[in-house]
Amino acid sequence: MADDELKKKIIKEAIKSIEEFRKSQNRWREKVDFVKFLFTPLAVEDRRLEKYFRKNGVKSVRDLLLFLPGKYVDRRRITTVFDAMVNSEAVIKGKVVSRGEVRTPGGKKFYQVILKDKTGALKLVWFNYNRVYPSKMFKEGEEVLVAGKVVFDTFSGYKSIIHPELIKEDSYSPGIIPIYPQERFLSQEKVREKIKTYLQQIKIDDYLPDRILSKIDLPSFRESLEKLHFPPDNLSPEKLKEENTPYHRRIKFSIFFPFQLALVYRREKNKKERGIAFKFSGELKKKLLSSLPFELTGAQKRVIGEIERDLVSPFPMNRLLQGDVGSGKTLVALVTALDVVESGYQVALMAPTEILAEQHYLNIRSFLEKIDIGVALLTGSVTGRKRDAIVEAIRDGRANIVVGTHALFQEKVEFNKLGYVIIDEQHRFGVIQRAQLVSKGTNPDVLVMTATPIPRTLAMTTYGDLDVSILDEMPPGRRPVKTFVVEERRINFVFSEVKKALERKEQVYFVYPLIEKSEKLDLKNATEMFENLRKIFKGYNVGLLHGRMSPEEKEWIMRKFQRGEIDILVSTTVIEVGVDVPNATVMVIEHAERFGLAQLHQLRGRVGRSDKESVCFLIVGKNAGRQAYQRLRILEKTGDGFKIAEEDLKLRGPGEILGTRQSGEQEIPYSDIIRYNDLLALAREMAEEIISTDPELVVNDHQAVKMEMFKLWGERLELGKIA
Ligand code: ADP
Ligand code: MG
Repeated sequence: MADDELKKKIIKEAIKSIEEFRKSQNRWREKVDFVKFLFTPLAVEDRRLEKYFRKNGVKSVRDLLLFLPGKYVDRRRITTVFDAMVNSEAVIKGKVVSRGEVRTPGGKKFYQVILKDKTGALKLVWFNYNRVYPSKMFKEGEEVLVAGKVVFDTFSGYKSIIHPELIKEDSYSPGIIPIYPQERFLSQEKVREKIKTYLQQIKIDDYLPDRILSKIDLPSFRESLEKLHFPPDNLSPEKLKEENTPYHRRIKFSIFFPFQLALVYRREKNKKERGIAFKFSGELKKKLLSSLPFELTGAQKRVIGEIERDLVSPFPMNRLLQGDVGSGKTLVALVTALDVVESGYQVALMAPTEILAEQHYLNIRSFLEKIDIGVALLTGSVTGRKRDAIVEAIRDGRANIVVGTHALFQEKVEFNKLGYVIIDEQHRFGVIQRAQLVSKGTNPDVLVMTATPIPRTLAMTTYGDLDVSILDEMPPGRRPVKTFVVEERRINFVFSEVKKALERKEQVYFVYPLIEKSEKLDLKNATEMFENLRKIFKGYNVGLLHGRMSPEEKEWIMRKFQRGEIDILVSTTVIEVGVDVPNATVMVIEHAERFGLAQLHQLRGRVGRSDKESVCFLIVGKNAGRQAYQRLRILEKTGDGFKIAEEDLKLRGPGEILGTRQSGEQEIPYSDIIRYNDLLALAREMAEEIISTDPELVVNDHQAVKMEMFKLWGERLELGKIA
């Protein structure tokens, strides 16, 4: 008896688990079908609607479903004039008691309708009404329903609605009404209908893998779409407007997640590709290190170790080297480049600008004075026979280290045996450009260097596909650069400090926001100030450097400054990164209010490069507001690049830090990255989890998100073919 029952129970449970298995079998297929459905192109017959969608970039079902209302109006109940709250949306019913054109005392015409209910009178106003015909819409004595934002007209003492919406009473359905981007002659109803049609075709609640769903604690995809497109009465329109409801967050997650998955997938995939396992004994490195007048910092040693481990491994390296200005990144790059050269391969070092490429080239040449290897410089402005010779040396392998701008890759420069690409990115390439760049080589090891300490949230998107090494230690003896924010009228004090430094035989930078006088901007410029400063500091050599000079001129000036033949270098932000003259101890930046904090921090990093005391003067122009002044104060207080970058991120947005307006793709605006950074982190964590258990994405339950990832990012991130 008991046995029988037990048997029955076991069988029952077995059947149940088989059923569940079947269900789950079908569930993953349903998820895949759903993603397919999401990416089908929209079919729109109505020509006006079709045009509207095209204009708003709505091409697929997914685009349509994610086309969320920008705002919502509260049409949940009809109120009386008395109850209508000023500065809120309201629906009011009343009788037309008067209507007609009115002239203001100033002679401006407008159309006015007065409605009355038991509690009071409401004024309706149209300013541009020759297309709206309120005269035809309202008849005296008629009861009407109007909606809009109620304001208080202090002049007449009426509650008013400007450009109200007239609602036909029989078509009034109370609720919260979503508002999509407005378009003349296109009713919002049509948009809503289309969305409804597609929403109704959704068969499942969600397409994310079950293990993610159980962890994210957010409403389902379907529910979120329904709630946002057809909000129920119990949602507050104010909350909806803030775009931070769980439903909004769920939709944002659906945008962040495929991107993070793509980045993590790509990182892991790159790791498995066949790369070069470099073999070196460290001979060249030793030679270099023993020729240096200083020891490597602990951080440099550690990071070199991290890179070398990648170099000897048979998989390609994709690593980000983050380090504040002056932390010694160039040397790390060079040391590891020598390992690669010793292994018989070539190294390409790419800089974002010609002047930086030249600077790197000169630096490397001087570091390698006693080491006999070939170093070449190739930028766009190297031409003619000189160029041919260099290209030839790169092709036959005599050029061991090639320094250049990214022209190096765009043009058909053939390497004999390229093994290592170092990108001195200085935050100017996005993740997409980088993917395309590297795909041109044959799996070389890649090191991206950035001088900007990038807040974690940004690093996750912009560098989300890279391993990260951090140089978090400055060479010893460096003293923080004393920084002063100074009003322009006190510039003479700055000049006297400059004079003292010059008398100590130290050198000085002056930086200006413009090269030449501008018609539009009332700002000082480098060219005129060069002349002025020559007069002010008679007896000293003043040089001028800016981006519009030829590379030869720039190099000539830089050399002279480096050798100390120029005492004062007047410049624009071309000296922002890379320039390295330890004897320079004073940095004067005029119109500092024109620059971002991170950028100023970079400029400031040009001084304080020795054990001498250095100062930085941030001169605030006379037209700058007090706010600018406050902002700059942050630099007085801290020299910590991370803190400064965080501040800039808060104050001016990521474009300031990354030097681009987009995070690399239209889907994810920077503002979202900041606003929903916790969701971004969650998406990242989930992506890591999925990939760590299923790096190839072969598990059934992962097929839907894999498909989504490829559809969205496959091409742009060069993810390869769907396996
Ligand atoms: P970054 O590129 O990170 O801004 P650099 O590589 O230009 O920094 O290094 C800044 C300066 O510090 C250079 O003059 C470099 O020669 C010097 N330097 C690098 N490493 C050390 C070290 N360990 N000790 C002392 N000076 C160093
Ligand atoms: Mg550098």
